[in-house]
Amino acid sequence: MPLLSEILAHNARFVEEQARTVTKAPEKRIALFTCMDTRLVEFLEPAMGLRRGDAKVIKNAGNTIIDPFGAVIRSLVVAVYALGCEEIYVIGHQDCGMSQIDGDELERRMIARGVDPQVVTSVHGSLSEWLGAFKDPCGNVHRVVEMIRHSPLIPKDVPVHGLMFDPAKGRLDLLVDGYGDVWAGQ
Ligand SMILES: [Zn+2]
Repeated sequence: MPLLSEILAHNARFVEEQARTVTKAPEKRIALFTCMDTRLVEFLEPAMGLRRGDAKVIKNAGNTIIDPFGAVIRSLVVAVYALGCEEIYVIGHQDCGMSQIDGDELERRMIARGVDPQVVTSVHGSLSEWLGAFKDPCGNVHRVVEMIRHSPLIPKDVPVHGLMFDPAKGRLDLLVDGYGDVWAGQ
């Protein structure tokens, strides 16, 4: 059975079994920003004691932000002003695949799959900047925390925490305690 049909067949059974309802406002009033790594699925939230309905979860490759007014910041704006999130957690992880990606190789593969080389050349600068952000996953978390804290769109009373997650063992290490920053700013 093709994967899409398998997913839809599973979904029909899944819908039959649903009983508990949850609201769209996060129960724990927090937003997580983390990596799209497959190993974090059904692993990061339980490791933090979070259940369905507890948190807004924003993901991208390598949990990084390049554009200060881009999709991640806009999602956080909605989470804070429209959905009642009171804290933000930036969560990087060890062994992030993004830190091993070779930009030149990525560009070669894009061209081999039919992307116009001129288009690849035109995005080379932003692609390098983006990939460069992952070379140091802990540094990336610190940088992203700072970016959110200093975003003109995010209120100063929202603590922004930074953590690293072990995708094998499930351990969280604290890098930035956002409460300290909020208190220091008062
Ligand atoms: Zn990752």
